[in-house]
Amino acid sequence: MNTYVLSKSEQVPVIGHSDVVVVGAGPAGLTAAVSAARNGCSVTLLERYHHLGGMASGGMVLVLDDMVNMGTEVVTTGIVSEFVDRMAAQDGAVYPPAEDCVRNWDMWQKWSRWGCINFHETGMPQSILHAVAFDPDCWKRVSLDLVREAGVNLRTHSWFSEAIVEDGRIKGVICQTKLGRQAIMADMVIDASGDLDVGVSAGAEYIQGQYIVTTVFRLCDVDTDAAQAFEYAEPERYKQLDRQARRIIGGAWGMWWLKTPLPGIVWCNCPHMPDYDGLSPEGMVAAEYEGRERMMKLLAFARENLPGFENAKMLGAAEQMGIRQTRLLKGEYVVTKKDVTERRYFADTVCRGRDYYTPYRALLPKGIDNLIVAGRHYSVDSDAQKSSREIPPCMVQGEASGVAVSLALNAGTALRDVDARAIQAQMRAQGADPGDIPSANALIEPETVS
Ligand SMILES: Cc1cc2nc3c(=O)[nH]c(=O)nc-3n(C[C@H](O)[C@H](O)[C@H](O)COP(=O)(O)OP(=O)(O)OC[C@H]3O[C@@H](n4cnc5c(N)ncnc54)[C@H](O)[C@@H]3O)c2cc1C
Repeated sequence: MNTYVLSKSEQVPVIGHSDVVVVGAGPAGLTAAVSAARNGCSVTLLERYHHLGGMASGGMVLVLDDMVNMGTEVVTTGIVSEFVDRMAAQDGAVYPPAEDCVRNWDMWQKWSRWGCINFHETGMPQSILHAVAFDPDCWKRVSLDLVREAGVNLRTHSWFSEAIVEDGRIKGVICQTKLGRQAIMADMVIDASGDLDVGVSAGAEYIQGQYIVTTVFRLCDVDTDAAQAFEYAEPERYKQLDRQARRIIGGAWGMWWLKTPLPGIVWCNCPHMPDYDGLSPEGMVAAEYEGRERMMKLLAFARENLPGFENAKMLGAAEQMGIRQTRLLKGEYVVTKKDVTERRYFADTVCRGRDYYTPYRALLPKGIDNLIVAGRHYSVDSDAQKSSREIPPCMVQGEASGVAVSLALNAGTALRDVDARAIQAQMRAQGADPGDIPSANALIEPETVS
């Protein structure tokens, strides 16, 4: 039986008021904050950790993908493109030039170890496409620059704990800091926590999702040229060793190591660990032990057996556990697996990724006038989220939510009363593709034509 204690009731100091408070400075939240600020809102961005970027930096998820439809149509633009340009200018991003985005063995050998292949394609070689390998510290630097230049009031080391709700509106949020609890009042709130922390506290409906978790890590002192030369010169022997390596790590996508912009340093997006609850402290401790054990075993095997890895060393695991899915909003519309796989177009699409479209309603909780979500916890079923949660599409959701709150504030309306066409127009004005113009491969049902 659970036992409970009553916590003390207290007066929480109000330390500020902003037009908009964004909770969570992952890819979605920091983009939302920049977008809202550029549209004239005063914005406070709250983040529990010291760095910006969430899974993209602290989680060391080091390839931006799901950016392209039909091989060459880049659909995640706007702040995403600006971000990539800024990282590339600091030697922190690598991606294939347009002329390399074709399907042949030469290009596959040149780009596959950067993660720039079409993972959804069957048959070999897979096509090369626009995806971006990046450095996590470069991500943090660019995030800080964008947030500062936009005039966002950044508050890191601030862990959201409670929404202050009155009559279907959030009046402000309370966060925990080393100085005690602090309240920040707001007219609009964007929940970009990845786990729907604000929505749950405000009473939004949700479903409990779950997916594999991963202690992502990097190895240094890898001779990647030698490793690739062996892979291509002795494919059968390579396959045999690679199978053993994947068994030892216990679950990995097609390639368990990828190159990064830093020479000799490789990114390992593994192991796959099912059955952990990404919200539970006990679960996360157990996953940390398990993941670290597995990665050290893989390192030992690689040093012993894999050409190119003889001198490899553990550079370190990501600061944040790799959580892909926890709670998902059950909002005004719930995106289904069928919507994603059939590329269903919606008249109120305000953002998109790869070949799928996200309606404005999938960012809106039911019953709360001034809350919008952006990121991996948007309103989607669990299976559909697994293939619609990559970093660039989450950033485009953030950009759209920043536009939406500014329009709602200017018009003095609830978020659900903002006309999606106005969001689409402003997204286009700031260089983003809101998905309002369906691509040739979209599913357009008669009722979606307005
Ligand atoms: C192991 C792994 C591999 C992946 N591989 C890829 C890939 O190759 N390419 C790709 O594009 N995507 C990949 N993804 C998916 C992608 O990383 C995420 O879906 C994406 O980062 C989601 O962005 P987000 O902003 O919604 O959430 P997050 O990145 O989770 O950011 C949420 C932010 O909110 C903050 N936060 C949370 N709760 C609070 C709170 N209570 N108070 C204050 N702050 C809070 C967090 O610290 C974090 O900064 C992968 C994910 C994982 C876990």
